Amino acid sequence: MPGHILRIAVPVPVDQVFDYLPPSGVDLAALQPGMRLRVPFGRRSAVGMLLDFGAESVLDDLRRATALLDAAPVLSVRHLRLLEWASRYYRHPIGEVVFASLPLLLRQDRPRRPKTLDVRWRLTPEGAAIDPDSLRRSPAQATLMRTLRRQPERELPPASLPSAVSWRRALRALVAKGWVAQEPASLATVLPAPAAKPPTLNDAQASAVEQLLCAGLNRFGVFLLDGVTGSGKTEVYLRVIEEVLRRGSQALVLVPEIGLTEQTLLRFRDRFAAPLAVLHSGRASGARLDEWRQAGEGRAPIVIGTRSAVWAPLARPGVIIVDEEHDLSFKQQEGFRYSARDIAVIRGQRENIPVILGSATPSLESVFNVHRGKYRHLRLRRRAGTATPPRYEVVDLRAAQMREGFSEPLVTRMREHLDRRQQVLLFVNRRGYAPLILCHQCGWTAWCERCDARLVYHQTANRLECHFCGALSELNAACTRCGSGNLLKLGYGTERVVEAVKQTFPGARVLRIDRDITRRQTAWQAALRQIRDGQADVLVGTQLLSKGHHFPGVTLVAVVDGDSRLFGVDFRSHERFAQQLIQVAGRAGRADEPGTVVIQTHHPAHPLLQVLVGQGYGAFAALALKERAEARLPPYQAMALIRAESEKPEKARAFLNEARAMALDLIANGAELLGPVPAPMERLAGRYRWQLVLQTRHRARLQRLLDGWLPGIRRLRTGRALRWSIDVDPQETL
Ligand code: ADP
Ligand code: ZN
Ligand code: ZN
Repeated sequence: MPGHILRIAVPVPVDQVFDYLPPSGVDLAALQPGMRLRVPFGRRSAVGMLLDFGAESVLDDLRRATALLDAAPVLSVRHLRLLEWASRYYRHPIGEVVFASLPLLLRQDRPRRPKTLDVRWRLTPEGAAIDPDSLRRSPAQATLMRTLRRQPERELPPASLPSAVSWRRALRALVAKGWVAQEPASLATVLPAPAAKPPTLNDAQASAVEQLLCAGLNRFGVFLLDGVTGSGKTEVYLRVIEEVLRRGSQALVLVPEIGLTEQTLLRFRDRFAAPLAVLHSGRASGARLDEWRQAGEGRAPIVIGTRSAVWAPLARPGVIIVDEEHDLSFKQQEGFRYSARDIAVIRGQRENIPVILGSATPSLESVFNVHRGKYRHLRLRRRAGTATPPRYEVVDLRAAQMREGFSEPLVTRMREHLDRRQQVLLFVNRRGYAPLILCHQCGWTAWCERCDARLVYHQTANRLECHFCGALSELNAACTRCGSGNLLKLGYGTERVVEAVKQTFPGARVLRIDRDITRRQTAWQAALRQIRDGQADVLVGTQLLSKGHHFPGVTLVAVVDGDSRLFGVDFRSHERFAQQLIQVAGRAGRADEPGTVVIQTHHPAHPLLQVLVGQGYGAFAALALKERAEARLPPYQAMALIRAESEKPEKARAFLNEARAMALDLIANGAELLGPVPAPMERLAGRYRWQLVLQTRHRARLQRLLDGWLPGIRRLRTGRALRWSIDVDPQETL
């Protein structure tokens, strides 16, 4: 018998649930977990989510919720438990976790009536494991469980119950326990009707698909689909999805950035004549709510979206696919710092369905999980169709003759390809014109006043920009320190490389692709069209260009500034560099022309670079993992990072020192505490950032340590005067 006290999550930065009584006039029987209620909170009112019922409360005078906002749950009990898990794991307040996962319109204090649908009930895997005879104390529940077990599909339409009313309470209890799932009865079994004719799978693809299907779509397992760019991973996803849809289940597909991966979307639309729910932050909130609901009601068999789509409700989950699983965008870097890739795995485990992680450059975490036998490894070593792998040429820049940032060998290669009317892609790490403004007279350089960062000169806008805090300023004609007019613009950003191409190849049509351009969606679309239609000869772009695009006309890719990422400060910089390099290289020669990749660097003998271009990403990953093991870093260690930031660096340090002192007995337990140290970029937007790292061998141990440690840190008075946060499994330690 559930209690009469409502346990409600409210979106406030306090990690607890709040107890309320039902609104007056609302029958307890009408309430179900997953419904939203309006509640008084302090002096204001807030929207809360009913998580559970309780029999008693530590508070004596409970307040009443003021209104019930939903007639039916917007989230299932199973989904609520997943959110609770995430809140505990990432140490983020449950109310913020729940509401961050909802579409904007459901965060607002307004009733949103879903279209009414018929429902049916289905035994969940947990329910199937329960012996009905053990439910002696509630005969109605036992009878229902027995009836459900006898059904061929273990599900019941409401009409098959003798008199629906008397069963309602028992059903509600079973749904609350997670043994029975309530679903829309109108879930159309959409048979895929391929609009486009699928290609015949090559042997590697066929084997991957077979392994996926044989392992069983009805049970949990994680598969790392490790296939070089252009090897046909998407085709593998499509085949698996086809089978999932045939069984009446849904597929959830996560991609790094929808705006940039329109092509993927088109391929899905082409293949399946089924409604596609597309979830990402760029969509109008009404459309977003609609498609979110279609996902939750099972009306959309395919749900595709960016990071937050991992929280999409699904009536009948069948498979979760994370494309480009290594991509940094899957980790939220602010507020609720979750990893959508890792949540996908946990969700797959809880739903008992397969999870496919796909990438040409898998994260070291995933490679490590393959080594440990936790993930199955599916490999596509060759490009699909006729395309051959690219050829690498490392150009030694030491003492090389340079012309506007280009070495002689690069200019020669460019000329060859342009003469053959093929496209050239130049990869540059920075947007803008010149990343360094230096006074030739006195050595002064232009720095951001609020960050430990140089200002970048942007020529088109004719101003200086800080790429970290966004501050804009004028470039004065004279040095602010000595007044000399001899200011040098050094280094190469995309704008300058475009200029250099125009000077070197006056006839070439050059196109720039970076955030400055793609901020406007129409400009981005136009650029993509120009590339595809062959109206551009040279593409100059940042890592945006390395993401998931097919540029069949591109045969030469050049990394203009190969050094810029080789020596980053984050322990993941080598991994990121390798991923970017291989991804951008993968844009070349995807059609029938073989591709060439030129890398300009001052460090041609760097062992990681050598292994990467000589033996490929797999060999690089093995070597990089060895280094991580020796340095005792993730994935060999579980890591949590406490960040503190303040206008006064002493404050951040003092707070972290106190936190450290509190943890000293924890360290004796085999944990490692590093810091406090200033972040590699200490000052950002006027705040000094310091950090403290906690590491242990095992995740479970890390979680237990945090259980003991965090409540104390939260009570620290020094912590109230500054901003601090915890990041479990941090992806960037900058
Ligand atoms: P990935 O996702 O691994 O980068 P894609 O699935 O996008 O690769 O495939 C790359 C290209 O090869 C696409 O144009 C796709 O249509 C084509 N392709 C995929 N599989 C096959 C196949 N079996 N036969 C011929 N072409 C294929
Ligand atoms: Zn000067
Ligand atoms: Zn700045």
